[in-house]
Amino acid sequence: MRIDVHAHVCLLPEPCRGEPYRTFPEVIGNLKRSMQANGIDHTILIPDNKDGGAEMPGLAQLMELLRGETCFSYLGCPNILQEQPGDLARFRDLLVRGVVKGLKFFPGHDPFHANDARCDPYFGLCQELGVPVIIHSANSPSHPPGRMNGPCTDPALIVEVARRFPNLHLGIAHFYWPKFEYCRETVEAFPNIFIDLSGVVDDDEIAGRERVREPLLKLLARDPRRVVFGTDWMECDTAKHVAMVEALPVDDKIKEMIFSENARRIYRLDLAT
Ligand SMILES: [Zn+2]
Repeated sequence: MRIDVHAHVCLLPEPCRGEPYRTFPEVIGNLKRSMQANGIDHTILIPDNKDGGAEMPGLAQLMELLRGETCFSYLGCPNILQEQPGDLARFRDLLVRGVVKGLKFFPGHDPFHANDARCDPYFGLCQELGVPVIIHSANSPSHPPGRMNGPCTDPALIVEVARRFPNLHLGIAHFYWPKFEYCRETVEAFPNIFIDLSGVVDDDEIAGRERVREPLLKLLARDPRRVVFGTDWMECDTAKHVAMVEALPVDDKIKEMIFSENARRIYRLDLAT
């Protein structure tokens, strides 16, 4: 079984790999074809942290678009910059009912740091409920332009969170691309931090594979339970991410942990095998 813990339904400004992209249903059709072509059985989708977005649906809209589908789960995305009364209680309810499997924060994309104290109530909530928090962490300078993506999402800040919430499952999305080795060194001693491999194989596929391989192997050697498979579809290519994991010189058992076992445990996915 393969589980992708990190994908988005969104309308990119440019056509993506020649596929149509003009409407959300078209994007969902592309996603399903990509899952089938790459042996992905289940995908965790990350909605926008606002409702009604023209480019990326919020949670309610996304769930409506995928009503009746069983191959998808969702994360909840609190918006700490525009908090509404009752938000914390609303996310507690969504998590308790299993409607969302964890929470995701977007420092860098949004102007706040990964260790912002406004996230603390949500970190505490997820620690209490035993569900993960995933934090965007990449050192890309212009995504979006002008935002301090790298400094705001530095793994050193996420380590501070791990210290304050030692029983919280904290996921680092993108392994602080492309500074994988720095990320590994920074987080390695914190067993409650795991890596979501989404977006680690960039357009320069071979170089990307080579760059991530050694840091990833070192982390797996230390604790193979701390890596989960993700893609960042549709901005990133699923086949390249599958190929990267398949090419790792590790036992099939370890690959199975990366592709499915770890995600099932951390995100508490109740899936038929
Ligand atoms: Zn993403």
